Amino acid sequence: MNFTETEEQTLLRQEVRNIAKPFGREYYLAKARAGEPLDELWNAVGSAGYLGVNIPESHGGGGLGISELAMVSEELAAAGCPLLLLLVSPAICGTILARFGTPTQQDTWLPGLATGETKLVFAITEPDAGSNSHRISTVARRDGDDWLLRGTKYYISGADEADAILVVAATPGDDGRPGLSLFLVDADAAGLTRTPIPMELVAAERQYTLFFDDVRVPAERLVGKPGHGLQQVFVGLNPERILGAAMGNGIARYALSAGARYAGERAVFGAPIGTHQGIAHPLAQAKIEVELARLMTSKAAWLFDQGLDAAEAANMAKYAAAEAALAAVDAAIQTHGGNGMSEEYGIAALWGVARTLRIAPVSREMILNFIAQHSLKLPKSY
Ligand SMILES: Cc1cc2nc3c(=O)[nH]c(=O)nc-3n(C[C@H](O)[C@H](O)[C@H](O)COP(=O)(O)OP(=O)(O)OC[C@H]3O[C@@H](n4cnc5c(N)ncnc54)[C@H](O)[C@@H]3O)c2cc1C
Repeated sequence: MNFTETEEQTLLRQEVRNIAKPFGREYYLAKARAGEPLDELWNAVGSAGYLGVNIPESHGGGGLGISELAMVSEELAAAGCPLLLLLVSPAICGTILARFGTPTQQDTWLPGLATGETKLVFAITEPDAGSNSHRISTVARRDGDDWLLRGTKYYISGADEADAILVVAATPGDDGRPGLSLFLVDADAAGLTRTPIPMELVAAERQYTLFFDDVRVPAERLVGKPGHGLQQVFVGLNPERILGAAMGNGIARYALSAGARYAGERAVFGAPIGTHQGIAHPLAQAKIEVELARLMTSKAAWLFDQGLDAAEAANMAKYAAAEAALAAVDAAIQTHGGNGMSEEYGIAALWGVARTLRIAPVSREMILNFIAQHSLKLPKSY
């Protein structure tokens, strides 16, 4: 067993840090508050080849794994710039297309994903189905060689920035029984409209409700086998969870570094406030939590990259990272006193993204359901 990262991985982290440094938290907050995408940062990371580290070399990517993409996610978040789009574009959509896409789909989409010039977003959540993907009511029906999509998706991150959307819809399977299928739908397809969801979240990516009103999708935009969408989606969901965990770990690192710095500098009773265990211990506790979460995140990514079953570890990593991020952000806010709630310090603004990680991409309760059922062999509760 070896817990050290390779020289290539250490270098990757360092280079991502170097790219992110001139941008930093101020850049991120200014963009998020103005409702603008992080184009400059995205392009800088993309042109250096780091948005597509997990995309196969044959299609212009780095040919590495989810471990390395998770490192990119963690380092960006640790620089104060958590990128939600990394979870969906290269992680879910890149993984699914590289695994299940036709050669033409791979030639069309993967090179752009590798450089970041193409953005794909992912649409599974629906107002009436929520966490229960079996209740998805967006339907794709055959019309000649094409498909017609009808239904509503919500909380679709970055739909305004996307070139296309990987949509999960209900279709008849090969055997005629209903199943789920995946479609790549152009973001500007006729019949597809979107409305922004006003959020209490300081994040650069905006959330959208998408309405599909008989959106025509050519047969060649079906990804994988019709009716087998759920199994295919699961292949992409573990990378998404791992990337979410890595982002949470990065948020925790950012918050702890800001908290520790402030605790070492600020003195109100003659000594730095970090002298007081009431301030030092919550920071130390969160530090332990995030290091544990980072271990599980590395394990989950390693399992996935080895082609082994990563579901349990990916769920545990996402759970642990969300909790660690929240503990770290909370401790950092408390350490900063009043400044913890100010725009200037930008610490409280981290809370929304950290808190979202308890809900998305999969909720804390659905993870606990998974662990109870699969790890502890308890009866299925829902
Ligand atoms: C910022 C943000 C970005 C997102 N981005 C995307 C995206 O890009 N694409 C996309 O498709 N979706 C996206 N989502 C949606 C996200 O994946 C869902 O919000 C999440 O999966 C929960 O679904 P829901 O909101 O419908 O909650 P619900 O399923 O309605 O659940 C509500 C609450 O009940 C709990 N609950 C439900 N069922 C059970 C049960 N059986 N046992 C115990 N508790 C239960 C849940 O854990 C939750 O706490 C995003 C959400 C947010 C907030």
